[in-house]
Amino acid sequence: MTELQLTLSPEQSADNQFIKKQIAKNLDIETNDISEFRIIRKSIDARGRIPLVIMQLRVFINENTDKHIYQEPFNYRNVSNKKEVIIIGAGPAGLFAALRLIELGFCPIIVERGKNVKERKVDIANISKNKELNEESNLCFGEGGAGTFSDGKLYSRSNKRGNTNRIIEIFHYHGAKDEILYEAHPHIGTDILSVVVTNIRKTILECGGQILFSAKVTDILIENGKAKGVRLADNRVLKSDYVILATGHSARDIYRLLQEKNIAIQAKGFAMGVRVEHPQEL
Ligand SMILES: Cc1cc2nc3c(=O)[nH]c(=O)nc-3n(C[C@H](O)[C@H](O)[C@H](O)COP(=O)(O)OP(=O)(O)OC[C@H]3O[C@@H](n4cnc5c(N)ncnc54)[C@H](O)[C@@H]3O)c2cc1C
Repeated sequence: MTELQLTLSPEQSADNQFIKKQIAKNLDIETNDISEFRIIRKSIDARGRIPLVIMQLRVFINENTDKHIYQEPFNYRNVSNKKEVIIIGAGPAGLFAALRLIELGFCPIIVERGKNVKERKVDIANISKNKELNEESNLCFGEGGAGTFSDGKLYSRSNKRGNTNRIIEIFHYHGAKDEILYEAHPHIGTDILSVVVTNIRKTILECGGQILFSAKVTDILIENGKAKGVRLADNRVLKSDYVILATGHSARDIYRLLQEKNIAIQAKGFAMGVRVEHPQEL
C-alpha cells in the first residue's frame, strides 16, 4: 500500500480508468498491478483559469484489500434497561448527545417540541403555500433541528473543538455519501440530510432509546440545585437525575425559563452570512 497525490482536470478526476493509468505511470507499475485505489482527500484549486482537482490517493498494489476495509468503530448497543437521560431537543446537539450516551451505556429519552422530519416537511411547505406557520413545527423546530433543510455543509473554520472526523463518520454510517469522508469541503445535500436524520432516529430507537415528538418542555424540575426532570406543555412530568438542554438558538421561551430560574446563561458571538442575487449583466 502506498499513497500519492494527483492534480487533474475535473473531467479526468471523474474518470477512474484515467486515474488508474496516472497512478501506474507515477509509480512505474502496470495498471493490472493496482488492486484498488481509494480517495483519501479531494479538494479543488479554483485560483487559475481552469480549475484543478487535487486528489490524495491510497493505492493497493497486488494485495488483498479486504483486510483494509474501513469500519467505523461505533458501539451502538441495547441500553433499554440502563439509566435514563432526558435530552431536550432533537437538533444536531440532541441527536449526537443521544448517540454518544448509547455508546457510554445510558438510555436517551429525547423530548422534541416539533414533529418528525417527514411531517415537518408538510408544515414547512404550508408556510410558503398557504402562509400558515405552525409555531412548533417549522424551519427552526422539529426533528433534525434548525439546519435540517439546508445543504448540510460539514466544514468549519474552527479546528479546536475535538474530533470532527468522527462526526463525519457518524453521518456516513447513517447514510451520507462516501465523498464526505475525503472531500475538503464536504456537504451532505438537502435530500440526503433528512434520510440521515431518520436513520439516526432508527439507531436511537433500535438501541432502546425513546424520542417523544410534539412534546414541548415548559419547565425544568430542580431540587436542591440539581435537575430532576422536566414538565411538558400537556403537564406530563418526566423524571431523571440527568437532563441535557439542547434547545438551540431559536427557543426564546427556554431563555426566559432559565432566567426565571436563575440559571446562568451567556450570550455568545455569531457569524452572519448574506446572499446577494443580482442580474447577470451586473
Ligand atoms: C437555514 C439554515 C441553514 C444552515 N446550514 C448549515 C449548514 O449547512 N451546516 C452547518 O453546520 N450548520 C448549518 N446551520 C446551523 C445549524 O443548523 C445549527 O448550528 C444547528 O442546528 C444547531 O444545533 P442545535 O442542536 O444546538 O440546535 P437546533 O438545531 O436549533 O435544535 C434544537 C431543537 O430543540 C427543539 N426545542 C427547542 N425548544 C424546545 C422545548 N422547549 N422543548 C422541546 N424541544 C425543544 C427544537 O424544536 C429543535 O429541534 C444552518 C442553520 C439554518 C437555520
